Amino acid sequence: MSRSLTLTEFLCQIPKAELHYHLLGGVRLNTMLDLAKKYNVALTEKEAKTYYRAYAHENEVMKGGIAALNFLYPLLRSIEDYQRVAFEVLEDAKNTGIRYVEFFWNPSDTSLPYNEVTEALVSIFKQAETAWDISAYLIPSINREKSPEEAITMVEMAINYPHPRVLGIGIDYREDNAPIEHFWKAYRLAQQHGLRLTGHCAEFGLHWRNVETGLDLIGLERIDHGYTVTENPTLMARCVKEGIPFTVVPSNTFFLKKWPDHHEWRTKHPIRVMAKAGMKIIPATDDWHMHDTNGVKCYQILIEDFGFDLDGIRQLIINGIDAAWQPEPVKQKWRYEWLNRFDLLRQKLISEPTIDPSHRIAYGPQIHR
Ligand SMILES: [Zn+2]
Repeated sequence: MSRSLTLTEFLCQIPKAELHYHLLGGVRLNTMLDLAKKYNVALTEKEAKTYYRAYAHENEVMKGGIAALNFLYPLLRSIEDYQRVAFEVLEDAKNTGIRYVEFFWNPSDTSLPYNEVTEALVSIFKQAETAWDISAYLIPSINREKSPEEAITMVEMAINYPHPRVLGIGIDYREDNAPIEHFWKAYRLAQQHGLRLTGHCAEFGLHWRNVETGLDLIGLERIDHGYTVTENPTLMARCVKEGIPFTVVPSNTFFLKKWPDHHEWRTKHPIRVMAKAGMKIIPATDDWHMHDTNGVKCYQILIEDFGFDLDGIRQLIINGIDAAWQPEPVKQKWRYEWLNRFDLLRQKLISEPTIDPSHRIAYGPQIHR
């Protein structure tokens, strides 16, 4: 067999699941500009670029992912706008080997009817599934900067319009003054109606208690981010033992700001600590275009900066399948097909990545046995 694949090509071709993707975080720059033009919203290209990390310059204030969502929700004013975004995000995703996506979106942030947006998005998902062999599902998410009562209203929308492509609920936006316990009624209601539960907890360096509360009081099945769990070894050991999935984001802005020195960032990052402890982590892109990441870069960072080898990457692919909200027979099929593909492509690599032994993380199959 000829060895012809570079590491980037390999990472682009291996099938993988993406479980933490904010739909509007994947809006392309040109699309944002087109939509502003369509609705006569004043927006220069220079202003638009302040939402996109790829265009960041020193001394320039970046607005970031949450500001981008706050700008985009009022900008998407028709069903067709949502369909354009859905088409483009799935096109980008399939181009990096993603085969399964669960998208967060915030029904409280649009004035369009919940059922119409859901159907519009799903119609594009179905087309993409046929054309590109990528399947997509929805997780309506609570905007925690709004009131707990609005969260209940959002959950009621999901309950009143049950849909096979709507799997569960999440919570996102700024956590500082809005810990997850404020939203317990919305979560309880969702749980009583059979919706699955995930939530952003302990992002932005906030206390590990937010993870514990998410698990024990709210009943979350998955945690998004959750990095400060590393500050409580007992809680971390429990999460390892129970195999609780954490979606983790290598491009998360908090740690890039906390440790602007690259060496410090790559050695101290909690994703490394979580991996070393044997936690069930799943790499995720979060805000794809806003954070200048994608389905390849997200994994490349883990190898080149955080010290994962390809046995470790293979285990991360398994974690993504395990944590997907799909029936077990579907996941069993993916384990067989995706891992066979992984192993085949691995044999075509020009060479395995070279990892500094002092930085290498042993995150192979032994981790979860
Ligand atoms: Zn997120």
